[in-house]
Amino acid sequence: MRKVSIFGATGSIGVSTVDLLARQGGAAAFEVVALTGGRNVALLAEQARTLRAQIAVTAHEDCLNDLRIALAGSGVEAAAGQSALIEAADRPADWVMSAIVGAAGLAPGFRALRHGGTLALANKESLVAAGPLLLSEAARHGATILPVDSEHSAIFQALVGEDIATVERVILTASGGPFRDWPAERLARATLAEAVAHPNWAMGQRISIDSASMFNKALELIETREYFGIAPERIEVLVHPQSVVHALVGFADGALMAHLGVADMRHAIGYALNWPARRETPVARLDLAALGQLSFMAPDPVRFPALRLAREVMETRGGAGAAFNAAKEIALDHFIAGRLGFAAMAGAVEETLARLNARGDLTIAPSSLDQVLEIDHLARVTAGEVIAGAGATMTGKAGGKRV
Ligand code: NDP
Repeated sequence: MRKVSIFGATGSIGVSTVDLLARQGGAAAFEVVALTGGRNVALLAEQARTLRAQIAVTAHEDCLNDLRIALAGSGVEAAAGQSALIEAADRPADWVMSAIVGAAGLAPGFRALRHGGTLALANKESLVAAGPLLLSEAARHGATILPVDSEHSAIFQALVGEDIATVERVILTASGGPFRDWPAERLARATLAEAVAHPNWAMGQRISIDSASMFNKALELIETREYFGIAPERIEVLVHPQSVVHALVGFADGALMAHLGVADMRHAIGYALNWPARRETPVARLDLAALGQLSFMAPDPVRFPALRLAREVMETRGGAGAAFNAAKEIALDHFIAGRLGFAAMAGAVEETLARLNARGDLTIAPSSLDQVLEIDHLARVTAGEVIAGAGATMTGKAGGKRV
């Protein structure tokens, strides 16, 4: 029986993964090793009972008591905290879903590679912050990393049977989010409720806001470069409001292979779960005639500067990916807390990178996970200083050029 673990089981990706496991036979078909979550211990316990997991881990020690109570009599072990997450990752598994949100997902994913199995990677932050290290760790242990991000799963599928050397370009599509057509002045006043209301995808709060700001697409640009080794100038972004075409790959002969499907992550998760085979999934089938038309347009670099920042990060390399992700996470925390305007997030990230670059803090590529986490920490502190120092000016600036 295949041994599986899910890190971030209670989130949007985690719940879809649990759903697919259940549909493919659940506890009778899979040996579920570890399920992890954060504060939603009621759901975590329910998932662990249903799938008869060995252990359920909450990231927060103050949630352990509630988790224990919810699991009473189930035979499922309960644990909490960062070291418990790492210990869960140390339990051998053949297939591990990495779906914790943010840089918190890095360490468990790295550890899980040691078993030499498959890491289904939804946590794009791992590749952005530590791409070369993650890939070399996988190679060292004979592990396979499969992309779960819909665009990267689409590219991966378009590349089956192809020679990567013949790839001329990759096109990532972006829905454009809820603010696609908003003028800059309105963007500057965008609220949290408006930012999380994604028009096409049902996702966690943080990635939904990142979609609205196009920071999500910025992370995906870097993710594409790191995972597939495609040069930045060959990676394009195209706004496609319907979110039907997930990505396109252009080849040397001019052919363009597109991956189409409805906006349901169970497709990409199911592909990673069953790869290299395909199995039926419950995703709705596309009705192109009913859809009528698909539209595409270039992204606006002025209202959405995150894409430009990602390109600068790819030029800098070194520790820039880790710093970019961390600064973005801090700016996002401040936006969610109502302390930073929506459009000011990009300015805060840009200023953080500028300060770190000026001090020479990003020039050396990290050679260990600890070094990645050091850069992550430094960028978080610096971003906090940038945002605190800018005070009121951070709440209403559109365009994000400078704070
Ligand atoms: P959610 O916010 O819905 O879920 C995040 C999960 O991580 C939850 O289980 C949450 O627990 C847990 N978690 C939160 N903080 C911590 C922490 N500090 N330590 C450990 N666990 C924590 O996120 P999504 O499912 O939307 O996204 C997960 C990852 O997948 C992200 O990296 C995202 O970029 C990526 N992704 C998501 C897509 C989507 O459609 N949602 C599409 C493509 C990629 P709890 O909720 O119990 O507090």
